[in-house]
Amino acid sequence: MNQYQEKDLKYIWHPCAQMKDYEDLPPIVIEKGDGIYIYDVEGNKYIDCISSWWANLFGHSNKRINKAIWNQVNNIEHVIFANFSNKPAIELAEKLIKISPERLKKVYFADNGSSAVETALKMSFQYHQQNGNTSKTRFASITNAYHGETLGALSVGDLDLYSKIYNPLLLNTLRAEGPDCYRCSYGKCRENCHAECFESMENLILKHHKEICGIIIEPMVQGAAGMKIYSHFYLKKLRKICDDYNIHIIADEIAMGFGRTGKMFACNHANISPDLMCLSKGISAGYMPLSAVLATEDIYNAFYGDYTELKAFIHSHTYAGNAMACAIACESLKIFEEEKVLEKNKEKGKLIKEKVLEKSKNNPYIGDVRSIGMITAIEIVQNKETKENFPWEQRVGYEIYKIALKKGLLLRPIGNVLYFIPPYIIEEIAQLNFLNYI
Ligand SMILES: *Cc1c(COP(=O)(O)O)cnc(C)c1O
Repeated sequence: MNQYQEKDLKYIWHPCAQMKDYEDLPPIVIEKGDGIYIYDVEGNKYIDCISSWWANLFGHSNKRINKAIWNQVNNIEHVIFANFSNKPAIELAEKLIKISPERLKKVYFADNGSSAVETALKMSFQYHQQNGNTSKTRFASITNAYHGETLGALSVGDLDLYSKIYNPLLLNTLRAEGPDCYRCSYGKCRENCHAECFESMENLILKHHKEICGIIIEPMVQGAAGMKIYSHFYLKKLRKICDDYNIHIIADEIAMGFGRTGKMFACNHANISPDLMCLSKGISAGYMPLSAVLATEDIYNAFYGDYTELKAFIHSHTYAGNAMACAIACESLKIFEEEKVLEKNKEKGKLIKEKVLEKSKNNPYIGDVRSIGMITAIEIVQNKETKENFPWEQRVGYEIYKIALKKGLLLRPIGNVLYFIPPYIIEEIAQLNFLNYI
């Protein structure tokens, strides 16, 4: 253990971890980054295969973005966002509205993914209260959903690992059985599926629509559930029925927005527009905490009035609209446009998928390879026929994580799902030999 690691363990409590594990495998202290590589204080080099928690888009220490920060910090780093504003926030809001689905017209800034989810939930709830639908007080979501870890966000999520112990504190959310394409109970394969599994959601809405203010969903891919990709038909059906019953769709694009699925936003695959859209992670190219909730004119208008009516959205985050984060986000969107990122990613995503498929062909433990845009995931199973998982106590993913680290790859499997979500600038696809360790 080096001196930094000793001090780290002495003073720091790391996220999402059993700190006892850190005694065997101390935290890797990163000193510098360059493109897809990060370097630790001992000079070891790792490929950041997971874009540092799905956020980095154009590599570490990106020259264009570094320059944008430098320019901005010499003007204004941060300024109160109530009654005040700043140029980068205005520029970003305009850009976001231009590229986002058609119904979205207003941008509300917050500072992390969970806070964007909290914001969207409160907006949806308050909208219905102020529009006379006071019985609409509940949210619905799907099984295996993940929307963040503050209490409201945990309430609408559905992963026991994060939420079980807090159950007594959480909102009473309705839950429909979500899609599961690898273990489809409708006997469909991905090619001939029309989201027959929407049935569960449909039944739930028919039964409870009078109570439901909004349905929150991760469009196209349930990330934290293990990169579970599902059909765009699901979203189309959801849009139709939510319009019929005056229910908001809250699209949680925090992980999938900004090109991860191959389109700018995952909703674009289904050609639908949500009523509220949460953005974070990639919004600032993985540089700084920033999030936004995009809302329709209709929702915005429900809050518009004289101060005495108390209709306003009384909700704030200190670092909302941070000028540096917004300047980064603006530069990132310029990179998308000027460097034709989405177009180039098409080829890259395909190459990665081909390589993974080829390597996994004869592997007895790779049950599923799934891929969309710049996401490729493989699910490791004990038995390919029965699709039976390894028992979780075996920590297959964690063992692979440790081996990969020694080989210079930062992976962070979710249970038995290994996934690969690299920064878009990756060129060294040949080096992705991680499949050799399974
Ligand atoms: C990461 C994530 C969140 C939470 O964002 P934080 O910034 O970690 O709070 C919410 N929803 C989805 C889909 C995410 O991937």
